Amino acid sequence: MCLQLLANFYTFSPYFWLKQVLSGSNVTTNSSKTVKKDHIFYIEIRLAKRPGVKKQEEGMKKVLEFPEAQVLSRQIRECLSGKEIKGVIVGQSPHKFAFFTEPENYPFLLEGKKIKTAEGSGGFLQISVGDDVSLLIGDGGRVRFHQPGEKLPPKHQLLLKFNDGSALTVSIQMYGMIFCQKDEDIDNRYVLISREKPSPLSEKFNHEYWEKLIGENKPTLSTKAFLATEQRIPGLGNGVLQDILYRARVHPKTRVGCFSPGDRENLFQSIRATLEEMVEKGGRDTEVDLWGNYGGYKTLMSKNTVGLDCSECSTIIEKQSYMGGSVYFCPGCQPVKK
Ligand SMILES: [Zn+2]
Repeated sequence: MCLQLLANFYTFSPYFWLKQVLSGSNVTTNSSKTVKKDHIFYIEIRLAKRPGVKKQEEGMKKVLEFPEAQVLSRQIRECLSGKEIKGVIVGQSPHKFAFFTEPENYPFLLEGKKIKTAEGSGGFLQISVGDDVSLLIGDGGRVRFHQPGEKLPPKHQLLLKFNDGSALTVSIQMYGMIFCQKDEDIDNRYVLISREKPSPLSEKFNHEYWEKLIGENKPTLSTKAFLATEQRIPGLGNGVLQDILYRARVHPKTRVGCFSPGDRENLFQSIRATLEEMVEKGGRDTEVDLWGNYGGYKTLMSKNTVGLDCSECSTIIEKQSYMGGSVYFCPGCQPVKK
């Protein structure tokens, strides 16, 4: 009973996502402690109480969403394909919320093999190594490439050294996953969902699919809950949500059952157009790429614009805490419909 109450409470917290990711399979932190389903609520409570975590969440430091996974994978395909992995260091800097599969196996799975390709799958960055191994990075995994001789970040949870002296590091912000497995062993539910559901930029994500997706939910569900939880659209998280809603003129608290035909169409168009533009421009200006450069997409609704006038109607852009994260919106352009 007690666990059920906690489950209900945390359903609307950003840590619900973490619980969902972990519940798909047994994963370990870099203290090699196996996280089992029954322990996950405990981990969430500790996360929620850490003041540092709260501060980072407010700053929207969740790194990997759809555009970042696409941009990083493109950069890796272009610059790292063919590089041979000479050495692997896992978990050099202890991090309670860095989650691995079986870290002791990573050197065995990766060393002596070449980076083959990379793809973005929802919010996961998937790097294919050799013929049958995938390195999957999700959520707060900050991925950086380093030229030979370049100084490495002082803290990292994964270091790949290539035979030409260059390197790749993954540093976890707040919390994140660095999974490495043979393709046939991948069983994490959210990784599998990210692969199975249609990409919002694919042809399969059409009007028919969109209407079906809306119809599967209770009419009382808020737009934020609909679009940015449960991985209904993999990789669409609270970060990219803000501009999608602003461009569609829909408030994050508007209930799905209150969508007009115009809202439905505007949201459909905005999801595709906004994500496409974010990918084309190298990611959002609040996030960094493989070289540490901020993306070229100028966010309209973010920590960078709160308190400024809306360019459409001059109303001041507001920020509110909602469902365990911050939402940014223009009260003039995005009235709430309940
Ligand atoms: Zn406005």
